[in-house]
Amino acid sequence: MSYDITQVSPLIDSHEINSVLKVVESGWLTEGVFTERFIDEIKIKTGSKFAVLAPNGTLGLYLALLALDLPKGGEILIPDFTFYASATSAIFAGLTPVFVDVDYSTCNISVELIEERITKKTVAIMPVHVYGQTADMDPIKKIAEKYNLRIIEDAAQAMGVTYNKMHAGCIGDIGVISFFADKTITMGEGAVILTQNEDLYRNLKLLRNQGRLNSGSFKHESLGMNFRVTDIQSALGFEQLKKLDEIIKNKLSLYEYYMSNLKDVPNLKFNKVIPESSYVPFRFFLKSEHSKKIMESLENSAVQPRGFFYPMHRQPMLKKYSTNGQVYPNSDRLYNEGVCLPIHSEIDRSKIDSISKIVSSCVLKGMS
Ligand SMILES: *Cc1c(COP(=O)(O)O)cnc(C)c1O
Repeated sequence: MSYDITQVSPLIDSHEINSVLKVVESGWLTEGVFTERFIDEIKIKTGSKFAVLAPNGTLGLYLALLALDLPKGGEILIPDFTFYASATSAIFAGLTPVFVDVDYSTCNISVELIEERITKKTVAIMPVHVYGQTADMDPIKKIAEKYNLRIIEDAAQAMGVTYNKMHAGCIGDIGVISFFADKTITMGEGAVILTQNEDLYRNLKLLRNQGRLNSGSFKHESLGMNFRVTDIQSALGFEQLKKLDEIIKNKLSLYEYYMSNLKDVPNLKFNKVIPESSYVPFRFFLKSEHSKKIMESLENSAVQPRGFFYPMHRQPMLKKYSTNGQVYPNSDRLYNEGVCLPIHSEIDRSKIDSISKIVSSCVLKGMS
C-alpha cells in the first residue's frame, strides 16, 4: 500500500547529496575525512570524550557489550518494552537478558522494579531511552554502584536528548545512538558508541578494526572484527548533524500542535516526560483503548499507521528468559494501547489536522 503520509521522512537536501557525491568522486570510500569530521562534531554535540562509529545500532550495542568484556552467562537487566535488538545484542554477546517492566506513563524502565530482579549473576543493566526522553538515570546509577553493575545505555532513539544536561549515551559506562533511516538524524544505516572511559575506547577501537589500532598494518595485537562504516555514510551523517537543532525545533512545534488538537479528546493518554529529561519527539505517541480502530482508520485514509513495541517476554525466541511466572502488565498494556503518529519534515499543520480528526472521531465513535 502506498501512503499519502508516511511514518518517517528524513530531511535530505542538496547538502547531503553534494557531500555524498564528493566522497564517491574522491575515490576514498571507506572511513576517511568525513568520518573524522563527523566524529569530532558528535563529540562536540554530545560532550562525549570518546566516540566510534558502528555499522548500525544493533551491531553498536553488540560491540559495546563486547568492549565491556562481561563474563559469559552473566545476567543483564533490560526493559521488557523495547526494540528487539536491545535483547538480541545481549544474547549474541553471551549474556542472559532479564526483563524488567516499564513505567506506563513514560514507557521507560521502572526503577522501583530493578532491585528485585538482581541476582548474584547480574553484571549489567541496559536502560533504553525510548520515545523521546531518557530513563531516570540517577537512581539507576545508584543501584548500579550498589551492586557493582556496568551500565550500557541503549540511546538508539535519543540523539539530542539530555538528562540533567548530560547527553544520552554519556551517562553510563557506554552508550549507543542509532542513525538508522527512521531515527532523528540518519546515515542510512549507522550508529555511534560513546564512552568517557579511555580503556573502553581502546577496546572499542581494537574490536571494530581487526584487533589493531591503525589500519594498513598486518600486525594484530588482539582479536577484532570489522565494524567500520563507509565515508559515504559519514558524509550523510555529517550533513544531518548540522540540521539537528532545526529538526528538533520542527518536531517540537509539530508535537505542540498535535497536543493542542488532541489534548481534550476524552480518554486519550499521552506520555509524561520526567523533569530531568529534555524531550525530542521521536513520533507523537498516544495511548487509547481504541488503538486498533485508530490504526485501521489511519490506514484507510492512506496515513501509515504504527503501533508500539511488542513486549520482549512475548517474542517467541525470548519467552524462555521470562520464566518463574513473571508478568509485565505495563509493557502489555502499552503494546495494546499504543499508536505512533508521524512527526517529520513532510508533516505540516493541515496534515496534523486531518490525522487528529481521524483519531478523535474513532475515539468518539468507540465511546458511543
Ligand atoms: C532503532 C533501535 C535499535 C537498533 O538500531 P539499528 O540502527 O536499527 O540497528 C536499538 N534499540 C532501539 C531502542 C531502537 O529504537
